[in-house]
Amino acid sequence: MDDYKLLLGSHVSMNSPDFYEGSVKEALSYGSNVFMFYTGAPQNTYRKPLSELKIQEGRKLIKEAGIDESKIIVHAPYIINGANKSREDLFDLSIKVIGSELERTAGFGCKILVLHPGAHVSQGYDVAIDNLAECLDIVLSKDNSDVKIALETMAGKGTEIGITFEQIKAIIDKCKYKDRLGVCLDTCHISDAGYDVHDVDGVLKEFDRIIGLDRLLVVHLNDSKNIRGAHKDRHENMGYGYIGYETMYKYAHHPLLNGIPKVLETPYINEKPPYKQEIEMLKSGKYIEGWREKFF
Ligand code: FE
Ligand code: FE
Ligand code: ZN
Repeated sequence: MDDYKLLLGSHVSMNSPDFYEGSVKEALSYGSNVFMFYTGAPQNTYRKPLSELKIQEGRKLIKEAGIDESKIIVHAPYIINGANKSREDLFDLSIKVIGSELERTAGFGCKILVLHPGAHVSQGYDVAIDNLAECLDIVLSKDNSDVKIALETMAGKGTEIGITFEQIKAIIDKCKYKDRLGVCLDTCHISDAGYDVHDVDGVLKEFDRIIGLDRLLVVHLNDSKNIRGAHKDRHENMGYGYIGYETMYKYAHHPLLNGIPKVLETPYINEKPPYKQEIEMLKSGKYIEGWREKFF
């Protein structure tokens, strides 16, 4: 525990006119030492050229703040579905978008791109896993960056794939470029998928047995509005859901997760971000009962 360092932050926005510079300022205002952002709108694939995004200005702030740039996370747009090959044009679009997201991630000086594995639609898990592995192989065969793709564990909403550690492992195993792949563990999603999220040691042991903890690149810290196994994917503020503060605190500070960035994606309260308060409570170890009503 000598070199223990809590890497904790949240999802941040990137908007006109300050773009990346604004994202970094937002993260710092929450007391974060890491953060996650989308390089454009999460729900579409339209992307502004990097030259317009004030990257140099943002990177300067990162350096001044002593933030480890290699732990900052980019999230790919969530509409792409590299697991569906039933329409060739959409499969090609997924390849194109993931390829461009890798390039963009590298353009920000970042090293980790979080990707949702996608949905099988009606083809079943096995076909979808094959499709995604093929998609990733095509993308990675053309990419010369050292950015890693972190496949996110999913809640199992609709026909999402990647809802068990076994499925994530199968994707990695089928891919030729294994050293470019890692995993993002989302606490809300694993609970929704059916894991006993409160048994932190058990979850991490299982993750290690099936996938290997060396693959774990990011943890998404979210409470869940729903009970274990609900497959709903609705995040909740810390302490207001079925996961709770104590369990989230355990993930934040678990020795096996030392050095792994933890990112909050909990919902805004009355249009205001909850992250400053949530981060403070995760750092201090002191939960403020009724904090949402008190501060918002
Ligand atoms: Fe995600
Ligand atoms: Fe997530
Ligand atoms: Zn989610």
